[in-house]
Amino acid sequence: MSENKKADKIVGVKGMNDILPADAPLWELFENTVQSVLKSYGFQQIRTPIVEPTALFARGLGEVTDIVEKEMYSFVDTMNGDQLTLRPESTAGVVRAALEHNLTYDGPKRLWYAGPMFRHERPQRGRYRQFHQVGAEAIGFTGPDIDAELIMLGQRLWDDLGLQNIRLELNSIGNADERNRHRADLVAYFEQHKDLLDTDAQRRLHTNPLRILDTKNPTMQEMVNGAPKLLDYLGEESRAHFDGVQNILRHNSIPFTINTRLVRGMDYYNRTVFEWVTDQLGSQGTVCGGGRYDPLIEMFGGKPTPACGFAIGVERVLELMKANGEKFDPNQCDVYVVHQGEQAQLRAFVIAERLRDAGLDVVLHCAAAGAGGSFKSQMKRADASGAAYAVILGEDEIAKGMASVKTLRSADTANNQTEVEFDAVPDYLLDQITCGDGCDHPEHHHLH
Ligand code: ATP
Ligand code: MG
Repeated sequence: MSENKKADKIVGVKGMNDILPADAPLWELFENTVQSVLKSYGFQQIRTPIVEPTALFARGLGEVTDIVEKEMYSFVDTMNGDQLTLRPESTAGVVRAALEHNLTYDGPKRLWYAGPMFRHERPQRGRYRQFHQVGAEAIGFTGPDIDAELIMLGQRLWDDLGLQNIRLELNSIGNADERNRHRADLVAYFEQHKDLLDTDAQRRLHTNPLRILDTKNPTMQEMVNGAPKLLDYLGEESRAHFDGVQNILRHNSIPFTINTRLVRGMDYYNRTVFEWVTDQLGSQGTVCGGGRYDPLIEMFGGKPTPACGFAIGVERVLELMKANGEKFDPNQCDVYVVHQGEQAQLRAFVIAERLRDAGLDVVLHCAAAGAGGSFKSQMKRADASGAAYAVILGEDEIAKGMASVKTLRSADTANNQTEVEFDAVPDYLLDQITCGDGCDHPEHHHLH
């Protein structure tokens, strides 16, 4: 081996992150919380493929959006020539699946999904090439009530996660007619201020001028603030819908601000649009974006079906949870089983299985590369495992038919070990570990 040249290491794809064991408990905490919140509102999970036909996104998101213009991982399947894309978002896929399987045949559906999304962007804090979203799609609902419900679900999620610095921004972008009338005035206004438009804005002036309102360029802020507001172009129905959303939110004491410049990236949105934003994450401050997309299902060849949804950027929420000092259970086990000798090893397997039957998390010492199997080194591993107890089986113990049970987290180092008959070990440990209903030892969590 040492004679050979060391092989080059292959590293992961830029902007695509490994989620390591140290972070996994935080992901689990988030995932469990969001799942239980979604369930409490009657949402059902849907899982769609990570790869979809490229046409789905080109048609669904609109040709002149950031995503379709420059962010999609598209490729040809050389086996059959199919044009495919790694999903940059999930609304299009969920709607495709709902149509394909006629999910709304017996009424509207509340759906949710979670998983990785792919966008070829410049990697930076809060912006990755593989990132994760959890989203909800309510398909077949017409009124402002579902828009408000989706927003209240979000508020409950932030509350359950203990996140306080997330605020709601709300707007209505009306329907296509209203946007067209606004667009004419908007383009005229921007043309009057052409000298102030950056290259991005100039490019968008005739393709997607609404997106110019979304600019983060500081030198354009004042000019953009003076632009005609879409809200002033809403007709009676759009106006009433927007008022309906606000009424429900006010009635439920959900604070919001109306941001007349808020638009959403994708073409399929209409009427209600919203974002949950925080100042704690620098410029990547939007943790969730959503809105109504009544036209999308017809664009995909279905019969007109109104719908509304949102998508949460999971990495950004996790960063907030970390910034807020979120305490989460580290990966810990209850018991570490140490053994020496062939008989002891066989007995150790049996005892470990009985302990797992009893509901405990057990790590059984196994031979490892580069580590001695001495009692001393096994005990070091037991300590490092975070286990509360070690079960020790040596030749002495085997001869007596007993196991030694050692407390690993005790200050009383003289009096922390006792011998228990093999068969009595599970009951003995359960007695030690379950300490009544008021127990708040994190390591005993799963036992309650
Ligand atoms: P942005 O304006 O930040 O590019 P967006 O409008 O492209 O956001 P959406 O497509 O609405 O974002 O996605 C919903 C949420 O997903 C965003 O609010 C954000 O939290 C998250 N998100 C979007 N793109 C990324 C990315 N590249 N990396 C990490 N999270 C992302
Ligand atoms: Mg984007």
